[in-house]
Amino acid sequence: MDKPTTMRRIAARYGIAFRLTAGQAVKLVNTHGTQVVDCWAWNAYDLGEHMSMEASRVWTQHLNPRLGDTFVTNQRRPILTLVEDTSPGVHDTFMAACDRRRYELLGVKEYHRNCRDNAAAAMQELGVTLPGVTLASFNIFMNIAVQSNGIDLHTQPTVSRPGDYVVLRADMDCFVAFSACPQDIVPIQGQADNTPRDAHYEILEDGFASPPVRGPWLPAR
Ligand SMILES: [Zn+2]
Repeated sequence: MDKPTTMRRIAARYGIAFRLTAGQAVKLVNTHGTQVVDCWAWNAYDLGEHMSMEASRVWTQHLNPRLGDTFVTNQRRPILTLVEDTSPGVHDTFMAACDRRRYELLGVKEYHRNCRDNAAAAMQELGVTLPGVTLASFNIFMNIAVQSNGIDLHTQPTVSRPGDYVVLRADMDCFVAFSACPQDIVPIQGQADNTPRDAHYEILEDGFASPPVRGPWLPAR
């Protein structure tokens, strides 16, 4: 008999946060296949230690994570590892999360919901006040294509399919925040209509994959 689902909704344009114990994992489902979800993680006991895109690229030597790649913190310690990915594997670690100022620069006059505020608000709902939210998020399902000259970036819509998911395993006790990105001006969501949509997530105790995990990259000698 199937276990009852513990899948929860991340409403379009909103964020959610939760705590993971080391060894637990979170499954993030791109329900409609079209949604970019920004992700942050913090050491549960020291909010000054957080998942770092720049330190993680040094660790993996990958522009984007592949199965078995580990995200490390600004203290260069493992915090989340990608253990499952049914999507085409197109994600982004380059682009700053959207914030209020980003929408102002895009010509929006009134307040626009944004990932940075979503992360802070979601953590506040857990009773956790963050000292700040780094702009460098792991942008799951986001499609930023490096062009053939190795320099130019091309911002494109997602290429994931409905129901595609990733599973991130916690390597330390941590808080994780997701934001179903409210971006509706720059065309990143889905194919044509660029409309933010719901995503879903589920915290897993077991039953997820454990692919070989690569340690920190070292130069060939
Ligand atoms: Zn965003």
